[in-house]
Amino acid sequence: MNLILLGPPGAGKGTQAERIASLYGIPHISTGDIFRENLRKGTELGLEAKGYMDRGELVPDDLVIKIVKDRLEAPDCCEGFILDGFPRTVAQADALGAMLAKAGTPIDHVLNIQVPDEVVVARLTARRTCGACGSVCHLLYDPPQKDGVCDECGGELYCRDDDGEETVRARLEEYKEKTQPLIDYYRREGRLRDIDGGAEPDEVFEAVRSVVEAGT
Ligand code: AMP
Repeated sequence: MNLILLGPPGAGKGTQAERIASLYGIPHISTGDIFRENLRKGTELGLEAKGYMDRGELVPDDLVIKIVKDRLEAPDCCEGFILDGFPRTVAQADALGAMLAKAGTPIDHVLNIQVPDEVVVARLTARRTCGACGSVCHLLYDPPQKDGVCDECGGELYCRDDDGEETVRARLEEYKEKTQPLIDYYRREGRLRDIDGGAEPDEVFEAVRSVVEAGT
C-alpha cells in the first residue's frame, strides 16, 4: 500500500502517519524527520538543510528527491510506505511518479488533511518535541506531566526552531504557493481523498482508515 499525506504544517500528518504505519506494517517516511535527524548528527545534509528549515522555506528539490529515492529503495518499502511531507512541489511529485512507474507500484491514495490557518498557528506554536526520542506533545491539548520533560522517556522538551509564529506563517505561505497545487495535481489523477483534520486525532484516524479501507 503506497500512501501520501498532504496538508499544511500542523495538520497532524506525523501523528496520523505513525498510526497508519503501525496499523498496516509499512514504514513512515517523513522527510522533515530525516532532515532533523541529520541536523542532530551534524551531517553535511543536515547543515545544508538547516538554513532553509530555519527560515520556513523548502529545501531544494534535487536534495529532497535524492533522499526519498534512496529511502524508497530500502527493503522495508517493498510492501508499501506512507510518505509524510513529500512531495511538496510539482517537481517532487513528478519525480516520485517516475520512480514509482519504474518500480511498477503506483500510489494508492493521497490523503489531503485540511486544517484552517489559525488552527495551524495555535497548534504549532504550542507544540513541544523531545530532543531525545522525538515524540511530540502539546502544551494545551496534551501537556507533559512535568514542565519541559518528555512523558515517554524523560528527555528534554524543546520548541522546534521552525515552530515560532513568524516561521510558522512563512511555512504556511510556502505551503500555499508550492504544495497546494498538488491538490489539483492528484485530484486530476483521481487519487485525492479529502479528510477534515480539525477533529480530535482519533476521529481523524477513523476517517483516514475508512478512506483507505474503502479503497475508493
Ligand atoms: P516538516 O517536519 O515536514 O514540517 O518539515 C520541516 C522542514 O523540512 C520544512 O519546513 C522544510 O524546510 C524541510 N522539508 C521537509 N520535507 C520537505 C520537502 N519534501 N521538500 C522541501 N523541504 C522539505
